[in-house]
Amino acid sequence: MKKKDEMKVLVLNSGSSSVKYQFIDLKDQTVLAKGLIDRVGMSDSVVTHERYDGDKVKISAEVLDHQTAIEYVLAVLLSKNHGVIKDKSEIDAVGHRVVHGGESFSESVLIDEKVMDDVRENIELAPLHNPHNLRGIQAVLKHLPGTPQVAVFDTAFHQKMPPYAFLYGIPYLLYRRYKIRRYGFHGTSHFYVSQRAAELLGKPIEKLKIITAHLGNGCSMAAVNGGVSVDTSMGFTPLEGLLMGTRSGDLDPQIILHIVGREGLSLAEANTLLNKHSGLLGISGLTSDMREIISEKKAGNKQAELAFEVFTYRIKKYIGSYAAAMGGVDAIVFTGGIGENSPDVRAESCKGLEFLGVSIDAEKNNSADKEKVISSDSSRVKVFALPTNEELVIALDTMRIVDAASHPSSAAGHGGDGKASGEVRNEKVDSAG
Ligand code: ADP
Repeated sequence: MKKKDEMKVLVLNSGSSSVKYQFIDLKDQTVLAKGLIDRVGMSDSVVTHERYDGDKVKISAEVLDHQTAIEYVLAVLLSKNHGVIKDKSEIDAVGHRVVHGGESFSESVLIDEKVMDDVRENIELAPLHNPHNLRGIQAVLKHLPGTPQVAVFDTAFHQKMPPYAFLYGIPYLLYRRYKIRRYGFHGTSHFYVSQRAAELLGKPIEKLKIITAHLGNGCSMAAVNGGVSVDTSMGFTPLEGLLMGTRSGDLDPQIILHIVGREGLSLAEANTLLNKHSGLLGISGLTSDMREIISEKKAGNKQAELAFEVFTYRIKKYIGSYAAAMGGVDAIVFTGGIGENSPDVRAESCKGLEFLGVSIDAEKNNSADKEKVISSDSSRVKVFALPTNEELVIALDTMRIVDAASHPSSAAGHGGDGKASGEVRNEKVDSAG
């Protein structure tokens, strides 16, 4: 077995109609290659592949299932003109993003038959995701037999939440019977950016209270106390919490029953309404894309302005409630496509929080740096905008778990115990151009 920090790990994110991959060399945390197989299951699929040196290729293909998608990933990694390996054996391990670990998994695990059964059991909690994650695992089992595989769960980081934070106010029997509780998602991202903020603050995470906001198409926040997620805004499903691109976030549950009655909707239609036609899109009537919301707002569109206000007001409310939940806050981190790139959203979400010790420096907030402190020097709470790196966390967890399986005394990792799964050296991550 190779030394753990010499491993090369293939990270896979297998969705319903796409497979994303990154091939990471852990020696220097370089992304050797990354890409996307889009439109899996259709005859007009597209393979996009990019190598560390900027070489890019786009191939039209017919990728009808995940088995074929993985074949393409391997073929392009091995390809003479665009590849980065000469033999499949150079892939030391495969790390999979798995969406729902339910209550079965509070940290990443080496995949075996039992783990696959447990992921299968959690399909009822994530019917749109876990089946595809499993297909990815099975495809690797077929094409790379003998290569260790690790599952890294979106829910794991939140599994240490106390019951008073994860229970809903419905009969307890329903929790026992159907596992209805808050799980939370984006765990790998909340873990990564909270660790990174602690590193940048130069303080042990065990001593810090951090609020993290992952704002992409899906949006969620977490209260990370001492490195442990003690509360998070997404719930039983990713629909709860913040306003999102097309999801409503928090709403009075009675509204659903009311709309179903008034509009004569089926449950499937109500599901589509709340997940696909709500959020920024629903309020603006224009778009789910924050860039367009902001440009429309600046052009005087009132609906876009309302959507922006609801979006940022809700973030502010969660900051306040998580500061209360933790009895204080030392740092706030913005990440995800919106959190990393929108000074307007960051400024508006923090406006009026001076009483909490939060003050934003306009110039720093507008800086082009990727990793930055955006609070003023006098702000008691440090506010950051940091790029997330879920793939790196998956690769590091995979390395640690594969290594631990061959040397059983190795240390613990990112599943909510507050410890880094390996040193996150973000400044060295080369995202292939
Ligand atoms: P996903 O959740 O699908 O991974 P991303 O994290 O890439 O998505 O986030 C997508 C969102 O980020 C979109 O709403 C997009 O408009 C927004 N975004 C990207 N760049 C900017 C920017 N410069 N300003 C405002 N919003 C941005």
